Amino acid sequence: MDQSELILTSKMLYRLIFLLCLVAAARADDAQSPKIIIVGAGPSGIAAASKLLENGFNNVLILEAEDRIGGRVYTTPFDKYVVDLGAQWIHGEKDNAAYELASPLNLTDHASPDTLDHMKTYMSTGELIDPAIMKNLTIFYLELMEDHAIMSSDECKRSIGKCYVHKLREHFKKLPELNDTMQDQFLWHYNLVQTGYDPADNWTDIASDNSDEYRVSEGDQVINWKERGYGTILDILMKKFPNPEEELPVLNKTILNAEVSKVDYSNEDGTVKVTTSDGKEYTADYVIMTPSLGVLKEKYETMFNPPLPEDKVRNIKGLGFGNACKIFLAFDDPWFNPQGVKNGGHSILWSVDELETLHTDPKTMWMVYALGFYFVEHKPNLMYVWVSGEGARLMDDLTDEEVFQQTKTMLNNLLSKHFNVTEPKAMIRSKWHQNQHFRGTYSFRSLETVNTNSSAKQLSEPIMKNGKPVVLFGGEATHEHKFSTVHGAISTGWREAERIMNLHKKTNDEA
Ligand SMILES: Cc1cc2nc3c(=O)[nH]c(=O)nc-3n(C[C@H](O)[C@H](O)[C@H](O)COP(=O)(O)OP(=O)(O)OC[C@H]3O[C@@H](n4cnc5c(N)ncnc54)[C@H](O)[C@@H]3O)c2cc1C
Repeated sequence: MDQSELILTSKMLYRLIFLLCLVAAARADDAQSPKIIIVGAGPSGIAAASKLLENGFNNVLILEAEDRIGGRVYTTPFDKYVVDLGAQWIHGEKDNAAYELASPLNLTDHASPDTLDHMKTYMSTGELIDPAIMKNLTIFYLELMEDHAIMSSDECKRSIGKCYVHKLREHFKKLPELNDTMQDQFLWHYNLVQTGYDPADNWTDIASDNSDEYRVSEGDQVINWKERGYGTILDILMKKFPNPEEELPVLNKTILNAEVSKVDYSNEDGTVKVTTSDGKEYTADYVIMTPSLGVLKEKYETMFNPPLPEDKVRNIKGLGFGNACKIFLAFDDPWFNPQGVKNGGHSILWSVDELETLHTDPKTMWMVYALGFYFVEHKPNLMYVWVSGEGARLMDDLTDEEVFQQTKTMLNNLLSKHFNVTEPKAMIRSKWHQNQHFRGTYSFRSLETVNTNSSAKQLSEPIMKNGKPVVLFGGEATHEHKFSTVHGAISTGWREAERIMNLHKKTNDEA
């Protein structure tokens, strides 16, 4: 070996040693960093993992039961577009984590101010409802929703449904053209609207006396993602978007198809053992639970050892968790929207006769929970049907073919007197209740919530062992004021990540 070769070799050796030192340092750092398991890769779990990784907590593992990340944020290809089978719109602008992340990237678009003018309502048998009456009722209804003062009146103290029936009946007196049958039909319609927000089986089960708990983020409530879907928020959280080079290693630290069956926090040393359905075991210093309240309701008795404290169980049972479903239809052309407007659609006013007939057959019962056929922003050849509350659960038991046929019948009955209706060429629909990793859509406040004095705040309390939180609770249902939303779910993920980070900051500061 001559002199120059020797210099080259020793340089390479130094570099190798330097690299090995770096790897060893990183390993030592990882070993000191607490082991954190996050159960669920929905927006809450992804937000928690991203926050931890961003702050140097590298010993993170996400266990996700499904074969995809995103949870109830589920953007999927359909026809020549992508559609959202779960969350679709950012609800509000102020104090809204999703809006704050997305809006600077120019990814979102606002609802048209004249949406109401492009919403028509028809009897389920096809007769157009006078638009002036419809507008009058809808404006009255929207004002009711915003008027917190009415909640103190006697008939409004407990149930939203009972309150609104009373108020709407009073208002109907100003519209003599509405006979008793028409009034009943409108009440059913607004029941479906309200259970779209608070997904109870019936609006009489929605509590009114803690309506101040949910706080609307001010601003546009239906901000859309243009040609994209809400799934983009996951890429933003993981920093994959807008600059893929800055991506945090969240996906590398996620195991899909890993359904957690047991969370054992009985160990005296304060570690938690997590077992998945395929028998694999993992140990952690902290476990952040983010599965839906529907999953907790079904599994709290079998999933935890020791069993969850009574207080936690009371809140899991007491908070409401309900259903909704979306059916997307693809057409060759947008015949249903001749003016090409962004927001609008065709609502259904179910005739009392049809309500009764369809309700007698378990196969057709779900149909009367369909609210209407609506346009999809930036996806002109699509319409979606919103199915509220109990209807969404009933529908899960039917085959796709049955649902497709029945949806086509509904569409024809509704619109064939006014349009040259063409057949949709494809359909895709959600099945949130049937899926054991969700068992519904989002949380709400029921009469039981009030009776049991349950709250998201109590649900969010971690389980402590030896003075430290060992099992922590995130997920939309644990957000005190923003439950039921994606922006709420994200905030809870950050909250639980920060709970752990603050503990370690304290330990480091003390040392
Ligand atoms: C039809 C529908 C429409 C909606 N529309 C909107 C909207 O327009 N705007 C809005 O803001 N919000 C909307 N939401 C609500 C929003 O989607 C949720 O609030 C939010 O996604 C909840 O996020 P999360 O992380 O708390 O829970 P999830 O998204 O449910 O994530 C939890 C994850 O845990 C996983 N999991 C469950 N059990 C286990 C287990 N045993 N082991 C491992 N993993 C498990 C699940 O697979 C899931 O991926 C909608 C929801 C639905 C269903």
